[in-house]
Amino acid sequence: GTDSPRADGCPILDYPVSDYLWKGLKDAFYKMAEIQFAAGAQKVRIIHLDSPWYTSWADAKAGIDNLAMEPHRVRLFTAHQMGGCGMGRNPEESVVNGFGEHHHVANLSVHDASIFPTSIGANPQLSVYALAARNSTRLAQKLRS
Ligand SMILES: Cc1cc2nc3c(=O)[nH]c(=O)nc-3n(C[C@H](O)[C@H](O)[C@H](O)COP(=O)(O)OP(=O)(O)OC[C@H]3O[C@@H](n4cnc5c(N)ncnc54)[C@H](O)[C@@H]3O)c2cc1C
Repeated sequence: GTDSPRADGCPILDYPVSDYLWKGLKDAFYKMAEIQFAAGAQKVRIIHLDSPWYTSWADAKAGIDNLAMEPHRVRLFTAHQMGGCGMGRNPEESVVNGFGEHHHVANLSVHDASIFPTSIGANPQLSVYALAARNSTRLAQKLRS
């Protein structure tokens, strides 16, 4: 998405949802419901304002077919992505080392939430700050020497 300043300086946030994303969201509704019933759920509710509780996969499938894919009816949110560039000692199993240095690309360092090996299972922001502060300080010292 984008953000831009309003005349009074307040930010305007815009995240246009394309047809491609709507299709992906609907596919995700189907898949999540199917997985949860397959895992033994008694009832499942979709993250959609108009969704009732469904009591079977067939029920859910028919219901999702008719859910309107529209802003403010589909609940859109995101948080806590981690692990896309996982750190580790073994280049076969990780992207960067414990200091965020890429195993294969010289002079490339990654200092963000992506280097957690996986989700840390808690709000990550302070840990991201700590990791970035530690690794950036070390990188700055290395570049100076
Ligand atoms: C809704 C929501 C609620 C959250 N609540 C909490 C909470 O309560 N507590 C908590 O601890 N954590 C919370 N988090 C998680 C936390 O915000 C993130 O884990 C953390 O911000 C990740 O830090 P990061 O530096 O890895 O990525 P980001 O903070 O996402 O930083 C990535 C930066 O890269 C920039 N960027 C992207 N592409 C480019 C490009 N091509 N060129 C230049 N810049 C680029 C982006 O603009 C952004 O500034 C929340 C996250 C969300 C989305």
